Amino acid sequence: MINLKLANILTDIAEVNKSRTDDRKISLILTIAARTIRDNPERVDKTFAEGKLKDLVGIQGLPYDLIKEYLETGSIGLYEEIKQKYSQDLIRLMRISGFGKKMLFKTYDTLNIKTLADLKEKLNEGAAIFGVLAGTTSGKDTTIKTYVERFKLSLDYIESIKGMSPRWEVENYVDEIKNSLYRIKDIETVMAVGSLRRKKSAVKDIDLLILPYFNGLTYDFVKSEKLLDEINSLDFIKRLIKKDIRQENISGRFGTVFGIEIELIISSRKNWAVDMLYATGSKKHIKKLETVARGRGFFKGGRIDINAISKDRPEGIINHSGTSSCPETDTVRFEETIYDKLGLQYVPPELREDMGEIELSDRHILPELLTMEDIKGDLHVHSIWSDGLISLSDMIERIKKFRYEYIAISDHTTSNYYGRGLDVERLRRKESYINRLKSRFKDFRILLGSEIDIRGADKFDYPEDIIKKMDIAIGSMHSSFLNTRDENTTRAVSAIKNKYIDFVAHPTGVVFGNRAPYFIDIDRLIEEAARNNKALEINSYFLRMDLNEQNVRKAGKMGVKLVINTDAHRPNNMDMIRLGVDIARRAGLQKKDVLNALPFEELKAWKSQRSQV
Ligand SMILES: [Zn+2]
Ligand SMILES: [Zn+2]
Repeated sequence: MINLKLANILTDIAEVNKSRTDDRKISLILTIAARTIRDNPERVDKTFAEGKLKDLVGIQGLPYDLIKEYLETGSIGLYEEIKQKYSQDLIRLMRISGFGKKMLFKTYDTLNIKTLADLKEKLNEGAAIFGVLAGTTSGKDTTIKTYVERFKLSLDYIESIKGMSPRWEVENYVDEIKNSLYRIKDIETVMAVGSLRRKKSAVKDIDLLILPYFNGLTYDFVKSEKLLDEINSLDFIKRLIKKDIRQENISGRFGTVFGIEIELIISSRKNWAVDMLYATGSKKHIKKLETVARGRGFFKGGRIDINAISKDRPEGIINHSGTSSCPETDTVRFEETIYDKLGLQYVPPELREDMGEIELSDRHILPELLTMEDIKGDLHVHSIWSDGLISLSDMIERIKKFRYEYIAISDHTTSNYYGRGLDVERLRRKESYINRLKSRFKDFRILLGSEIDIRGADKFDYPEDIIKKMDIAIGSMHSSFLNTRDENTTRAVSAIKNKYIDFVAHPTGVVFGNRAPYFIDIDRLIEEAARNNKALEINSYFLRMDLNEQNVRKAGKMGVKLVINTDAHRPNNMDMIRLGVDIARRAGLQKKDVLNALPFEELKAWKSQRSQV
């Protein structure tokens, strides 16, 4: 995961440098560079080898030198200097917690903290850390208590994502791995299964199902094992971790150069459908499915009995040799046959988590899930007016690609320094620019949006008469990591209650590996959104994915509309909309639950009807 790793190092350096005004500029440059690196759809070492690194946005001067140094020597001198005193985890905690450098480093120094484990111990002991915090903060009891809680939450957060990687980044490697595997002449089909196929936001490994030409209606164990050996010699493989030889197939687990483990299951034409089902999981879903199969006479030898199922409809479940290969679009058809035979409605992979889906499928009342085609527009896109680096033509390209009806150019507001927020004067200029665009395009609508910082309860960056004029007004919190739960909840609720704000963006503030969520009573926010007929955002940016599927499920059940946006800052961020759709699907949402699945006129009606109340 080199892109994310390197981007995190750059943000760490930026964070350490944030104090003086001069340093603030350096921090800004490094923050921009980090974003470019982590969003790069290609491995940064590859981009560098091709000599194209300098062409990337913001990768000139200092950032370029630092990245080059890292790629050539494996480390960055400047970073190593910082690391001499504090471990990488302790440095990263600055960003994850939102604590200032001074307070954090003073705590480390005074209490002789060298690792996260030391810190955890001191937190459990209590007294000593309370003493340091009393001296480094305002000294108020509530502040000290909040800081201790923030420390604990941050450590729990780090623990919760241990060994996980954002799916979007992993998928880029999967493409590379697939290409490499297809160069082996025995391999006919490679398919991503496991949590990748179930579209989880973060995954811990890559599961691939492989169909070789030689495994037809019988399984050749000798050749299959040889195939694993051949795979073991491929460039991207680091080492074989273990081999599993089961009654029905063989699989191998490998370490890779991408820093993520991969499980390869060698399947056969005969068992393709059932192998796919088992390898997709989840374990809990399969367990329940097996119970159904057992009760209905389709279970044998410890597995769902493919022979009994394929007896009547072999053509539906076995892809006979001689026909073309098994593209992923066929897979649904194969699996449908299994569910069908078991008397169940087909369960899309996203729902296979044993969250009641088998019960619903038994009654044939599974929801018809939202699809990408239902999305009519993106309401949270940053342009060059603030910190976005997306040109108008980039936007139009995506509008056409996704057949959007509308898009809202929603930039940051005054108090957002790192987001180059717009003051009222610049907003006025932007407004006349957007008005010109409105008259220029007839096939789709470009809307004036704004991502308004919620500075405090009922304290927004713009006065109400300006918020009122927005086509789309978003309320956001960006620097609320050290507030109490009550403070943050009151702030967010005040935005929900504001007549002119349409929705709250990234409601928990979590950024994968970069920010632990802030303290907020999300249930209260959902209740207030329901009461005030406001939407809540599913932020599709691959590191945010906020709200998460559990909260989306809750909101959906309460009748709150969700709005799926990309919060794009770079052109390819706009393609991440599908990640938000995946969250919605995993939460069981339908088209009717999603604000930006409404055609433009209905979106407008939703807004105007609400502001009349
Ligand atoms: Zn934001
Ligand atoms: Zn934003």
